[in-house]
Amino acid sequence: MSASGHVVVVGGGLAGLSAAIACLDGGARVTLLEGRPRLGGATWSFERRGLEFDNGQHVHLRCCTEYRSFLERLGTSHLAPLQARLALPVLRPAPGEGGPPALGWIRRSRLPLPAPLHLAGSLLSYRHLALSDRLRLLRAAARLRLARLDDERLDSVSFGDFLARHGQRPEAVRAMWELITLPTTNLRSADVSLGLAAKVFQTGLLTRADAADIGWSKAPLARLHAEPAARLIGRLGGEILTRAKAVRIETAPFEEGVEVTGVLLEDGSRIGADAVVLAVPHGAAADLLPPGAHPERGSLRALGSSPVVNVQVVYDRKVTAFSVAAGLDSPVQFVFDRSAAAGLDPAAAGQVLAVSLSGGDAEIGERAEVLVERITGELPRLFPSARRAEVLDAVVTREHEATFRGLPGTRALRFGPATGIANLKVAGAWTDTGWPATMEGAVRSGRAAARALGALGHLLPKPAARKEVVV
Ligand SMILES: Cc1cc2nc3c(=O)[nH]c(=O)nc-3n(C[C@H](O)[C@H](O)[C@H](O)COP(=O)(O)OP(=O)(O)OC[C@H]3O[C@@H](n4cnc5c(N)ncnc54)[C@H](O)[C@@H]3O)c2cc1C
Repeated sequence: MSASGHVVVVGGGLAGLSAAIACLDGGARVTLLEGRPRLGGATWSFERRGLEFDNGQHVHLRCCTEYRSFLERLGTSHLAPLQARLALPVLRPAPGEGGPPALGWIRRSRLPLPAPLHLAGSLLSYRHLALSDRLRLLRAAARLRLARLDDERLDSVSFGDFLARHGQRPEAVRAMWELITLPTTNLRSADVSLGLAAKVFQTGLLTRADAADIGWSKAPLARLHAEPAARLIGRLGGEILTRAKAVRIETAPFEEGVEVTGVLLEDGSRIGADAVVLAVPHGAAADLLPPGAHPERGSLRALGSSPVVNVQVVYDRKVTAFSVAAGLDSPVQFVFDRSAAAGLDPAAAGQVLAVSLSGGDAEIGERAEVLVERITGELPRLFPSARRAEVLDAVVTREHEATFRGLPGTRALRFGPATGIANLKVAGAWTDTGWPATMEGAVRSGRAAARALGALGHLLPKPAARKEVVV
């Protein structure tokens, strides 16, 4: 193994980018291979009629510490500020065309109360639930807080089973639990593994008071992740090859087993490697992992996928002052004001709203016109000012395989960063991070893969003399 080894990272999503940067920081020579013409993986942007859209609204919480530190490394954390204090308005439309929606809040107390007391005041005054439901909810939350995340049995039942066992009526599931479960795990409570849901609630809401302050990008995702990452990798002396699809990880006999020697690309070229980080989605990993990497590598496909659909609406005027809101008993799950990210002139009158539909099994196959009609018909029920506004444009984006499908039983399918081949590591939101498929999970996995290679001696501490090359 060479002292300053050549690490080939396959996949230019957040996992691959964070792995590449961590390897460069560790002193390795790095080549990053991305099959598509662009970096960023599941976070990408496009232009339409002079405005910039993302493939889907991406949100993180203050507890996403590795993701935040990744943004800091890229120099873009200021573009994705966190709320000073969790505040989520929850809007339930009035019946029919009628009056304004009912407004409830999920928010962190102004007082410096420890978790979970920081939410107690807001829950007790939460108008979308009967008082008896609110009290039962507190009891179930207390039980969830005690769950041991390393207990594998948590992955044998659904979160819905747990909620039913702890007296949560369907109203409480809809009006509270689902508001958190659906956007964070990309599945409904009835479907998602209790283990993944418990991770979300413990880490996000029940352990630290400030953990669930919400953050999202005020710039297109490409400017938050892909572009600054490419610049940083260039400055650190790394090489990026796009339209470079890996078709085989090559191995050779080594000691009792095999070692990775390089990567074969679709165009027939071959890149030699001292080590490889495979940072592709789980389906692609199942195809690319060589024999010896993992006994169950073919089973990775059983992780399945869960879709996300977004409907983004351009209005001719400002229709809401909320920068984020959740809809209840509404086809709108979450809506974000992304006027700034779209590049709308702040002096201009319009507003761009992104409606995010997680766990979008029902919506993914629907025609764009149907989705647009439903959402633009609903937004005025949530935001009465929209009744007088004109819709200038609407864009539907669909991601069929936005995340893996975190059903009970999926924990056993996730592994990594180590594989059965010492100089091959895996990264990706699907790997065994304990997190649902999130940007945080992706960054954690990439950094964990780089650390695991470091332990092998492929990476060296950054030599003092090493300089960043300005490109
Ligand atoms: C619409 C949508 C909304 C989401 N919302 C949120 C959110 O609000 N919060 C959150 O935290 N997460 C969210 N996610 C999930 C999050 O985006 C992903 O979990 C994360 O970005 C995955 O990163 P990754 O690097 O593991 O995988 P990917 O981003 O999928 O990257 C893998 C890369 O590997 C490349 N690749 C594949 N095969 C090959 C090959 N053979 N050779 C070379 N390259 C290859 C792919 O082209 C891709 O660029 C959302 C995802 C979507 C799609």
